[in-house]
Amino acid sequence: PADSAPEWLAHLNPPQRDAVLTTEGPVLMLAGAGTGKTAALTHRLAHIVRERMAWPSEILCVTFTNKAAREMRERVGTLTNGALEGMPWLGTFHSICAKMLRRHAELVGLESNFTIIDTDDQLRLLKTLIREAELDEKRWPPRQLAGLIDSWKNRGLNPEDLTAVDNESYANGRGAEMYRIYQERLKSLNACDFGDLLLHMLNIFRRHTDVLKSYQQRYKYILVDEYQDTNAVQYLWLRLMAQERKNICVVGDDDQSIYSWRGAEVANILRFEKDFPGAKVVKLEQNYRSTPQILAAASGLIEANSQRLGKTLWTQLPEGQKVRVIGVWDAPEEARRVGEELERLEREGLSLEQAAILVRAQYQTREFEDRFIQIGLSYRIIGGFRFYERAEIRDALAYLRVIAQPADDLAFERIYNQPKRGLGAKTLEKMYQHARRTGQPLAAAALELADSDELPARARNTIAALMGDFLRWREMSEAVSPSELMRAVLEESGYDAMLKADRSAESAGRADNLVELARAMEEYETLGDFLEHVSLVMDNDANDDEDKVTIMTMHAAKGLEFDHVFLPGWEEGVFPSQRSLDEGGLASLEEERRLAYVAITRAKRRCTILHAANRRIYGQWTSSIPSRFIEELPDEHIEQETTMTGGKSLWQANWSESEDPFAHVSTSRPDRSSARGPGWQRALATGYETKPARLKEPGRSAASFAAKPRTDVEIGARVFHEKFGYGEVIGQEGNKLEIDFEKAGTKRVIDSFVTLAK
Ligand code: ATP
Ligand code: MG
Repeated sequence: PADSAPEWLAHLNPPQRDAVLTTEGPVLMLAGAGTGKTAALTHRLAHIVRERMAWPSEILCVTFTNKAAREMRERVGTLTNGALEGMPWLGTFHSICAKMLRRHAELVGLESNFTIIDTDDQLRLLKTLIREAELDEKRWPPRQLAGLIDSWKNRGLNPEDLTAVDNESYANGRGAEMYRIYQERLKSLNACDFGDLLLHMLNIFRRHTDVLKSYQQRYKYILVDEYQDTNAVQYLWLRLMAQERKNICVVGDDDQSIYSWRGAEVANILRFEKDFPGAKVVKLEQNYRSTPQILAAASGLIEANSQRLGKTLWTQLPEGQKVRVIGVWDAPEEARRVGEELERLEREGLSLEQAAILVRAQYQTREFEDRFIQIGLSYRIIGGFRFYERAEIRDALAYLRVIAQPADDLAFERIYNQPKRGLGAKTLEKMYQHARRTGQPLAAAALELADSDELPARARNTIAALMGDFLRWREMSEAVSPSELMRAVLEESGYDAMLKADRSAESAGRADNLVELARAMEEYETLGDFLEHVSLVMDNDANDDEDKVTIMTMHAAKGLEFDHVFLPGWEEGVFPSQRSLDEGGLASLEEERRLAYVAITRAKRRCTILHAANRRIYGQWTSSIPSRFIEELPDEHIEQETTMTGGKSLWQANWSESEDPFAHVSTSRPDRSSARGPGWQRALATGYETKPARLKEPGRSAASFAAKPRTDVEIGARVFHEKFGYGEVIGQEGNKLEIDFEKAGTKRVIDSFVTLAK
């Protein structure tokens, strides 16, 4: 059919046209990144509409995100000259199933106005049920049960379908029972969770053939993008609907399967050919997106995976530049470097819209946000909140705000019962009433109430304890650094424990974000300085018409493309993630590698990978090892660049060359003996004499330089520090001392924290 292609399809290549024009029968389009799969799918949809083979309402089209659905709708609109009045069945699996389920809700015991509950509601409900079942919720946390139930739903399993093995994993064989109770309770609430949207529809199709038949009749054509990331329940649902007409076209790339943690099964690709015998398999090999250099680098990397179908990719685009690998000293330098590159591109006339920074983990965005705000570069964060707007960060900041400013009622209200202390809305109301009556801030009112009999004894004790904590933290805030204070607050308030008890994947991300917050705070001397910085950052409402650079996770970038892509943090433990390394399995490492492949292939013209030699974790410098993925990139397609200090780990760096003689100071070196030779000492000393200290970004450190240095402490003096013990002063700069501690190694501390030892 490709020969008789109409004019408007002329720009597609023969296999793409084939995929567009083979409208009858099953089609599997399997091809690498950037080969025009989504483009072909969009044209296929437009073709069906243009040729009036079906009404838009008779076509089912599944995309991976709502954003992708919007884009496809627009494209098809253009390709059909606006001929179609919307596509009611174009959307994600969830949005499509929600719409269907409203029509058939009664078949699963719901009313059509059912509520879709979110994760928070789900957890609260499970918690109640766990209590009612008299299970120990510490031992069998709601999160764990929620995760199991989700995974069962992803596999299309109802409570009665669970095998003994499935069931064993929770509360000694009570998993199925809890799952059943949960489903019943949802029903009585006229509610369902996200997983139910698909599972209910699958159940309806299985149990009510008339309904299934009506959908099999309705959908003349079914199209699915990003097919490699469908899970079992999605696949079963699709298969049932396509069974009758078999006009189903799925497109995907096994090398881009990155959602197995959400139950996606690459095996669905292999299964497709079995379930739809005679399926036409279309392979696309020409890549239209990336330069040969980028493509070769990505292809070389993914070859290290053992589990893949294998494919060839080629491109006609001009050679382009090699993938750049830049080694930097630390995370701030990484952000600085990317900022400089972006400013350079802007000067050269490139729109920031055409650039993206793709990170492995949400916490990585913070360093870039801080830097970009400082240099006034517009950015947007996609698929997540801006760093300082995330719930856990706001919680931590609320504690700090109450400490710094006891009259901050909003902050107090946010955390008075977070983590849960059993203080409910009633207590809050009482506190507010009292505050209004006496004209005091909320916290002060709470303190008084703790001393009256307005509240039940339990609430009074809880409030008294909390206010006691705040008093202590306030005292502490004058003696320790802001980041130390924050760590104490998180620990002592029970916030850390709350996150630990929470076994979900998100909770680990939340803990990482808090570590990152501590890292950000280390740059500030006082709590006030830090909070001021945050309020400036939060206030940074960028103008919406401005060009902005996009910051997002690699996962969220699936299917997208940018001229310039920056990939920071390619270090072992960051990417591949520590979790994937800890799990240790080949499968999880290969999934990380596929993610790397997805990330690199987002780039059209230039791809820049960065890795830092050092990362600071809780005030301790640790050396990082470049990601194994960097080594796996074929040499001939990359160019390595190392800044003066970057690329080497901390203890290898040549101090006298070091751009920043103080950068290494608060370090814990893995091998102190080798680093302590006379050369090292001398180099360090030279560094002191010849280089002006650049401890911080200019402009950020007014407070630190304003502080008066002590005059009674000299180099060589023996001193005592409450946290690090005894040590010898080996350097002094302003009010900072560099001390070689006997036990803790070399650290930089504020001079007022040490006492002279005899
Ligand atoms: P991914 O696997 O990343 O989702 P994909 O296979 O879906 O990639 P598309 O996004 O459809 O690829 O296409 C990649 C780029 O190539 C787009 O900019 C698209 O407009 C362009 N493109 C697709 N087909 C052609 C073609 N036949 N001629 C020229 N450009 C094309
Ligand atoms: Mg695509």
